Amino acid sequence: MKRIAVLTSGGDAPGMNAAIRAVVRTGIDAGLEVYGVHNGYAGLITSDFAYLARRDVGNIMQQGGTFLGSARCLEFMTVEGRQQAITNLNSQHIEALVVIGGNGSQTGSHALAQMGYPVVGIASTIDNDLEGSDVTIGVDTAINVALEAIDRLKVTASSHRRAFLVEVMGRKCGYVALMAGIAGGAEVVVIPERELTPEEVAQQLRATYDRGKNHGLVVVAEGAVNNAQKLIEHFEANPGATGFSLRATILGHVQRGAQPSASDRMLATRLGEGAVRALVDGQAAVLVGIRNNHIVTTPLADIVGRQKPLDMHLFEIAQIMAQ
Ligand code: ATP
Repeated sequence: MKRIAVLTSGGDAPGMNAAIRAVVRTGIDAGLEVYGVHNGYAGLITSDFAYLARRDVGNIMQQGGTFLGSARCLEFMTVEGRQQAITNLNSQHIEALVVIGGNGSQTGSHALAQMGYPVVGIASTIDNDLEGSDVTIGVDTAINVALEAIDRLKVTASSHRRAFLVEVMGRKCGYVALMAGIAGGAEVVVIPERELTPEEVAQQLRATYDRGKNHGLVVVAEGAVNNAQKLIEHFEANPGATGFSLRATILGHVQRGAQPSASDRMLATRLGEGAVRALVDGQAAVLVGIRNNHIVTTPLADIVGRQKPLDMHLFEIAQIMAQ
């Protein structure tokens, strides 16, 4: 193998740049030429490749986002689109591909691998919903951004004896909400894995109020049925249900753009290095992830279409700490 390519796909995650850098520098160290693909799978279809030297990936590790660009690409979901991608890769004599991305992106890399093209995935999403890796690139930074907001909201909430609903990202996975809820000292955590009705949220806030607390914090996952919007509608229709006056903050994409934490930079560097090592060792159709602090590979076939289950013991901890 002489030439490989790397792309970033799906939602951007802080640390993607560090992963690209690690793929490029490890690849060059192993005697390979490395090409970057612009705009995820869309760039494979339009043949948007750029040769990357070591210096081309300098000074990017500390930046959020991805300097290669990312995209959601519907054409890649068709056999014809993927065939075009393989034709373009072959015409550039690119023999293998590294895909840095989340669940959808790794479903795409699996589909490409099933057509016979060598692909290795790197677990990268702020949702941390991918099987095959204890944590994914970007989730630590996303939790820290949520936490910073929560800490600030708690200050103002305490000054006015208010309750705040903070909605955090994570798609259908409650990991970010649960971790930010525990680390931020939330009174209530609402996640898709353990739905709460608006009445139950109100009850728990009321109990908080009755215990004499001067603030109430509810962390809500965007994927919960009763998300911040739904809860606010309920509380507007039922004023006085909690004792507190209530405000809501939806963090949204602000969680994506942050400078990657030290932990995300380290993870990205190790996974990027691991992906190139896997390719050099002749592995393909695998996801590179981290388990028990070891870099491991898992067949893509074993991870696609699945969502990593949440450790529900953490939910129990959140409840105990909220008392
Ligand atoms: P995140 O969850 O962090 O936002 P993601 O990787 O899950 O990231 P998606 O938008 O779900 O993001 O997927 C990214 C891209 O992967 C899609 O736009 C599409 O090009 C490709 N993809 C997703 N599912 C498939 C599939 N079943 N077959 C082929 N390609 C797919």
